[in-house]
Formats: sequence, C-alpha cells, structure tokens
Amino acid sequence: MTFVTRFAPSPTGPLHLGHAYSAMIASDMARSENGQFLLRIEDIDQSRSRRHWEDQIYDDLKWLGLTWPKPVLRQSDRLSIYDRALDRLWKRGLLYPCVCNRKDIAAAASAPQEGAPLLGPDGIVYPGTCRNANQAKDLSRIHHPRNQALRLDVAKACRAIRDPAKFQFSELGSGPDGETGTVTFTPDEMATNIGDVVLSRRDMGTSYHLSVVLDDAAQGITRVVRGRDLFEATRIHVLLQALLNLPTPEYFHHDLIRDDAGKRLAKRDDARAISKYRAEGASPADIRHMVGL
Ligand code: GLU
Repeated sequence: MTFVTRFAPSPTGPLHLGHAYSAMIASDMARSENGQFLLRIEDIDQSRSRRHWEDQIYDDLKWLGLTWPKPVLRQSDRLSIYDRALDRLWKRGLLYPCVCNRKDIAAAASAPQEGAPLLGPDGIVYPGTCRNANQAKDLSRIHHPRNQALRLDVAKACRAIRDPAKFQFSELGSGPDGETGTVTFTPDEMATNIGDVVLSRRDMGTSYHLSVVLDDAAQGITRVVRGRDLFEATRIHVLLQALLNLPTPEYFHHDLIRDDAGKRLAKRDDARAISKYRAEGASPADIRHMVGL
C-alpha cells in the first residue's frame, strides 16, 4: 500500500509555528516512506474562510520548502458529496434535527439532576434534548432538513455496527494520556463521553467531522498526521468510517507547539505567524529549529 498523508488547514487566519510543525512532520514522513504528501483546504466555514488566507497558506508552505500535487482539494467544492452522505445516514434513521443553541445545551446539561456537565471533543456532551423530542417521529419519510443542525444518534449508530473490531484505531503518535498503539473504545464510552455530535451545522451543510472522514477516504489517506487536540475526535471519525464503509487510516497525533506561557497557539496568535518570521528575515531552517525538528 502506498503511503499517503496530508496537511489540512482552514483558511481562517495565518499559519503559525504549530501549523508549520504539523505540515513538516507530515511532509517528512511522506518523504521517508517514499509516499505522497497532499494538501487540503478545509474551508467549509464560509463565514470565516478567506481567499487571501488560502493564498497565504500556499505561499508559506512553498517558502517552507514543501511541495504537493495539484489541484488541491477544497472542501467548498465537495458540498454535494457531504450532502449525499448525510442523506444515507438520515435514511438509516441515524440523524435527527437539533434546534438547541449553546445556551440551551449548557442549561440542560447543568440541570441539578445531571451533575456537572461532561466535556467531549466538541464541548459539553449533548444532553439529548432534540433526540428525545424526535423519538416518536419517522424522520426517514422526509428529506433531511438543510436549514437545521443535524446530530448523529451515537448510541443507535454504535448499535448499527456489528463488528466490535471496528471500534479501534492504530495510534502511531500519542494521545493526551499517552495512548499509543491500538486504541480501543466501547459504544458505552462513545454515548457517555462523546454524545450526539453535530454532523451538519446550520447553514453549512456539513461539519468538520463528516467532511474530514469523507475527504481522507477520497484522497486515499493512509496516515493522518495532526495535533493531539484532535485525538479525542478520532473516535467519532472511526465510527463514521464504519458507518459509511470507509477505510480507517493510521493516526499520528503529535504534540502541540505552545507559547511561552504554555498555551497552545491559536489562529489569532499573529505573533507566531510564519509570515511574521519571514518578514523578519528568518529562514525555513530557523522555523524547523524553532519547532524542534
Ligand atoms: N482543519 C483542521 C485545523 O485546521 C485540521 C483537521 C485535521 O487535520 O483533521 O485544525
């Protein structure tokens, strides 16, 4: 099997040292495995994505010495593919519309009988309000609504997977608690610690989780390289791969580049933008050195 990996930035701000680190690890791996390094532009959030940030991504990565085949896959070109996948899941009764906003979720999750709200990869674990409200309805008879958020009924989705060997993935880096090697999880853990995640955001027609899984499969990615902050989301991705009959790649979650105060770098952290170091006369070798490669 040929080795294929990718770097998948969102064009919502400047690339910073953390992105450079991730992209360089992936590109280095592809080189040492005689494989391919691909670039993907994750621009489903059209309210925040900007063409000039996308152009700057190409520019910064080229400057760092990275190369990738063209054309580059852009998520905004694939909305009909995400929509078809949602339709398949909807027809199987695995999705339901959700009208809750953040405030509703926080209020329901912190109701006195609920104890302290549990946090999952997407924030507070969804307390299931709209799942319960839709329980008695046969939603498969209508088309999935496109102007409402759609959530995956995780417990039901897990029951739809017969093969328990699907609940695992191979971690070649490590998770936040040192998880490495074969990482397994159970349907109960999924329902409790992850909950019903959003697969289609209102006015977006998809979500990060759905698109990333479909795109990794479409691009034939054999190893996903990304930051450790996405380790917890991997279980959702593996569940979606099983539901949609897609292969599960290997995962390599790397450590996060932090600022001097120990905080993970954010998009708005312009102080560590690659473009800023470039303007100050740093070389690509300096950047490698700064991130410890
Ligand atoms: N687009 C995501 C980000 O910029 C990366 C997603 C991934 O690598 O799976 O953080």
